[in-house]
Parts: sequence; structure tokens; C-alpha cells
Amino acid sequence: MGNYKFANIVINRPIEGPFTYSIPESLKEDLEIGSIVEVSFGSKTVTGYVVGLSDKCDIEKIKPINSIIDKTLRIDSGMLELTKWISRYYYSSWGEAISAAIPGVLKKGVSVKRHKKEKHDEVSEEFEFIDGSDTHLTPNPEQQQALDSIINSMSGRLHKVFLLHGVTGSGKTEVYLQSIAYALELGFSSIILVPEISLTPQTVARFKARFGDKIAVLHSRLLGSKRVSEWKRISSGEARIIIGARSAIFAPVKDLGLVVVDEEHETSYKQEDVPRYNARDVAIKRAELSNAVVILGSATPSLESFHAAKNGKFTIIELSERIDSRLLPAVDIVDMREEMTRAKKIPIFSQKLKEWIGKDIAEKKQVILFLNRRGFSTFINCRKCGYVIKCKRCSVTLTYHFDKKKLACHHCNFTMAPPEICPECNASYMKYWGLGTEKVESEAHRLFPAAIIERMDSDATRKRGSHDKALSRFKDGQIDILIGTQMIAKGLDFPKVTLVGVISADTALNLPDFRSAERTFNLLTQVAGRAGRSDLGGRVIIQSYTPQHYSIQAAKTHDYNAFYDKEISLRKELYLPPFCHMVALTLRGRKEERVFKASDSLRASLEKENKSKNIEILGPAPSPISKMKGMYRWAIFLRSENAENITSILKKALRENKTSGIIITVDVDPS
Ligand code: ADP
Ligand code: ZN
Repeated sequence: MGNYKFANIVINRPIEGPFTYSIPESLKEDLEIGSIVEVSFGSKTVTGYVVGLSDKCDIEKIKPINSIIDKTLRIDSGMLELTKWISRYYYSSWGEAISAAIPGVLKKGVSVKRHKKEKHDEVSEEFEFIDGSDTHLTPNPEQQQALDSIINSMSGRLHKVFLLHGVTGSGKTEVYLQSIAYALELGFSSIILVPEISLTPQTVARFKARFGDKIAVLHSRLLGSKRVSEWKRISSGEARIIIGARSAIFAPVKDLGLVVVDEEHETSYKQEDVPRYNARDVAIKRAELSNAVVILGSATPSLESFHAAKNGKFTIIELSERIDSRLLPAVDIVDMREEMTRAKKIPIFSQKLKEWIGKDIAEKKQVILFLNRRGFSTFINCRKCGYVIKCKRCSVTLTYHFDKKKLACHHCNFTMAPPEICPECNASYMKYWGLGTEKVESEAHRLFPAAIIERMDSDATRKRGSHDKALSRFKDGQIDILIGTQMIAKGLDFPKVTLVGVISADTALNLPDFRSAERTFNLLTQVAGRAGRSDLGGRVIIQSYTPQHYSIQAAKTHDYNAFYDKEISLRKELYLPPFCHMVALTLRGRKEERVFKASDSLRASLEKENKSKNIEILGPAPSPISKMKGMYRWAIFLRSENAENITSILKKALRENKTSGIIITVDVDPS
């Protein structure tokens, strides 16, 4: 690659860089911008990414590059540009952003803990190929109109974002499939993002059936070396359609023409580690950089996306009816306050839900029961002194798990045997409270002793393959009642399911989170969509202690627009996204006093920089979970009309506030 003497290199560390290294004679031939190399950094050997080459260097003592990790691999200029944008927008180093975009085995030199986690992820990534057979259907007029606009933009190489809004069964997936087929004809590659690949087997199967070996399915089950070989297969242009979860947005496809983000509102698109990107927003950026078209699909679009569509930033496409004109299931809301008065205790099943379950399983139909909380009892306390058993490391109560006869922390996995006497006052009156899926299961067994009941949550499906096994048994009609967490809320299409019971609609509503109403509406809509997928019809029963809440009422009438109108006016009133740009800063440390002091000083720096006062600074205040894994947590929120305002002051304030023992995380567009 010519006669450059020096390379500018970034690394997977929270240090900005780039750092200059000299290029040894032996590597001059092969080294290029985008090469993945090994360098020494401090006393360690780490992976580096070449982001620039030069002839001159002002630094005297300079280290040479050790080696090129794989000569056939290179990060292309488009990916360098995209990762640079990610690093700026989400406040990571460029090297960290590149690391998020490439296969795990290529990123050595990360901390041990992180490395372990990556290994675990890799064990579960895999590409699969299957023959195509399924052929495409004749679009209905609405689908045709959607396709015309999409194809028009694609042919003209015009970057555009379409928001495809339609209830389940309105034909969105068929629009994706035909758009992808058209992209292929035009010589373009496509990337399809799905929220969690293991939870959407039926969707993935449809893509495989349609495109056969042209499609690469990016599973979360794949060993490192296999992943690298697939990366090469994609970058050589052999695989032209890639389907996968979040990180598939970085698939090194050639000639990207189309990106589909299915269920664009899903929070699993947000990465919780550095860089804390949202794959939907990265998808839009990537498409913009390569003049590609984006289709965001959802029955319940995020407030951000629907707002953008209303303002003309995105193009909205409505699919207003279900393909088969089948009605959406009837939704009943049961007021659990009345049930409680009637039953003179806190009931798990309302009278109505009990009756419908009994009736449907007697007719050999199937029932899904949903509760977004695992375990048996969600907390235990002493009846005498009121002492509540909490995690030693986190400020949360411990959940009792009947299967294992243990109390467990759902944040740090700490477990202990449930005490028989109160650790505080030694009384022997420990009382179990609250409701999780295990308790629903045991109560269902008691009420319907003849029914075959299966529970599906992350406790029950920890063993590999047990998830798929349970689903196929359910599909074959070997299970009458399936009980689960959000694991069963998505994508499942079982014609014999005529009844869906939501044990408590309030679990998500009570969270201290500005998206809690949106989450509740989305979840209820999604769960409700599991019922009535055949001529057998369907019914949904939602139990709630706050039945009048607009998110629950809108779910009853399947009315997205009603929900949106109410929610968007609240967001406006409270100056919340999409009306402001938000950044959440969390400070963590083992000494509460020091965390508080560091938070105060960070706030002071922010104030000082914020001269034009166009940024609102909220906090510091303790995080909702004020202690986690032994670390105290305080938060500061920044709000502003535009993102750049925040960037300019935050960068400086963070530089000024490096305190040992305090970790500061920056979360842009927190979810
Ligand atoms: P969504 O993705 O919105 O849930 P799908 O694309 O899965 O909707 O469509 C729902 C069902 O209707 C699927 O079984 C699909 O095969 C079928 N379908 C979609 N479009 C058509 C069409 N134009 N003609 C006939 N059947 C269709
Ligand atoms: Zn804990």
C-alpha cells in the first residue's frame, strides 16, 4: 500500500486516540486503512484498527505495529465512517465503536470480564442456509402502493425512511419480502433486523423459505472462527441478504440498498454496553451514508418514529386492514380492585379469566397466560417487625424461586436459602408476597388439575433447546396452557390459541420510567396479538388494578392513534423525547459519599460550560435502583433541543471529572 511510514490507530479502550505507530518494512505491502492489527499499548498487547496513514510524525519515541491480524480482512471506508459517527453520537471512543462492529475473535485486548461475555455471545452465533421454496403473493392495493414507493426510492438510489404501520397480519412481512426481492434484482444487498432472533423463529423461517441460500441468518449461536468466515462471505458479496438481531446492522455487505427494521419500537435494539447504540438509529445512519432505503415496521411504532413520520421526516405507509379481514380479538379488562373486594383476598385469577380458561381447554383450544415477572413470590418479609429481605449488593428485594427453593436477586444473581426466622428480630413469621410466573403456574395446576401446563421464562428455558422444544410441543397441541414472560409475547403464531390472559397489566406501568405507558401499550398489543389467529376466534382478558389508564384503554380498542395522541401530548407537556434530546449520565462507585461528591462536581462543571443555558441539567439524584452489584448509583439527566449542544459541553465536563473509583456512563437516547 505504498510507502507510508506511520499509521494512525484506534483501540478498543475508552481512550480517544488515534495513536501513531510506525509501519515495519515487512508490513508495508499489506497494511491499508481499515487493517486490523496487533500493537503494544502500555504494557499490554491489544487489537488496533488503522484509521489513517502518513509520512510524517512529530513524536520521537514511536513503537512499531506488531502484526496484521488477518491480511484478508479490512474494515471498509463506509464502516469507518459509520463507526466514527457512532463514537461521536454515543460518546464512545472510535476504537470501541469499531469493536462493536466486527466479529468478537478479532477484538483481543479487552478486559477479562468483557472478553468472557463476548465468548458467551459467540457460542451462540451461527449462520444457516436452507433452500427456498415459498413464492411471493399478489400484493393487495395497499401493499402495492407501499411497494411502489419503496421500489421507486430504491431504483433512484434515494435515501428515504418509510414507517410501515399496520397491525399484526396486515401484510408487513410480505412487503419486506417483496422489497428485498426487488433490491436483489437491482443488484442491491439487504439487511433485515429482528428484535431477538431466538424469539422470532417463525419470521426467520419465512425469510429462509423465500430466499433459500441467498440469505445468511446471523444467529446468536456461532463460534468465533465460523463467524469470521461468514463475515468474509458477506464482504465478498456472496451473501446478499442478511437477517439478524442488533449487531447484524454491521454486516459488511456490498451495495447496501435496503435495511428493514422489524418491530422498530423494540427496546432490545438498544445495546446496553459501550457503545450504547440503538440499532434502529444506526440503521438509518448507515442507510443515509449509502443512499439506501429503510423500512421501519411496527404495529405500535415508537413515539419517536411516529412523530418523525407526522413531521414529514419519515414517510408513513399505513396498512389499515388485516389481509384476511379477520377481526382483532375482543379485549376484556377486569378491574382487579373489584375482584379483590369480592374474593376478600388478592386473587391471581379473576372469576372471568377462570371461566374462560375452563371453557376453552374443555373445547381443546389453547390458552396463553402472560406475566412479566418470573419467580414465585417477589419479596418476603417478617410479619412481626416488617423487615424485608433485600439483596446485599443491590437495593432490591429478593425473589423467591420455588423450583430451586432459593431467594434470588434478579440484578446480580445473588442467591440464598430463604430464612425461616427473621434476621432482624428472630421471629419465625416470614411471609411471602407478590406474584411471579411460578406462582401463576402452581395456581393454574390447582384450578385446572387435568390440564397440561408449561411455563416458559428464562428460568424454565435455561437449558439449550428447551425453548424450541416447549414451543413445538405447544404447536402440536401437547400443551393446554402456556404460561410465560415476554418471552412468549413475540411473533408466535399458533392457530389454536383462542384465549390470552394478562395476569397483571400493571407490572410495567409502575416502573419509574417515562416510557412505561408506551411499554405497557406495546406489550399488551403484542400479547393480545397471540390470540385469535384462526377461524376459531379469540379473546383477550387483561387484569389490572389501574384499568382506567389510557395505555390499557387504548389496548382494549386496538387504537394506536388514540394512544399516540394522548402520550405525545404528555411528552410535549413534560418536555420528554421526542421533544427533547436526552442524555443520561450515571455515576457509580463503592463509596456512596464519593459518588455523591463526584456527581455534584460533574454537575458544577456542566453548569459552568452551559453558558448559553440551552441545556437543562436535572439532578444529581439517586438512580431508581440506587445500589447495584455493590455500587452506589447517582444520575444526572441532560435535555436540550439539539444533540450538538449537549455534545459540546459534555465532552469537556467529562474530561474535567475523571475521579478514580468512580465510573461514569453516558447513555444517549436512554430507553
Ligand atoms: P404482518 O407482518 O403484518 O404480521 P404478514 O405479512 O405476515 O403480516 O401477513 C399475514 C398473513 O397474510 C401471512 O400468512 C401472509 O402470508 C398473508 N399475506 C400477506 N400478504 C398477502 C397477500 N397479498 N395475499 C395473500 N396473502 C397474504
Ligand atoms: Zn443483587
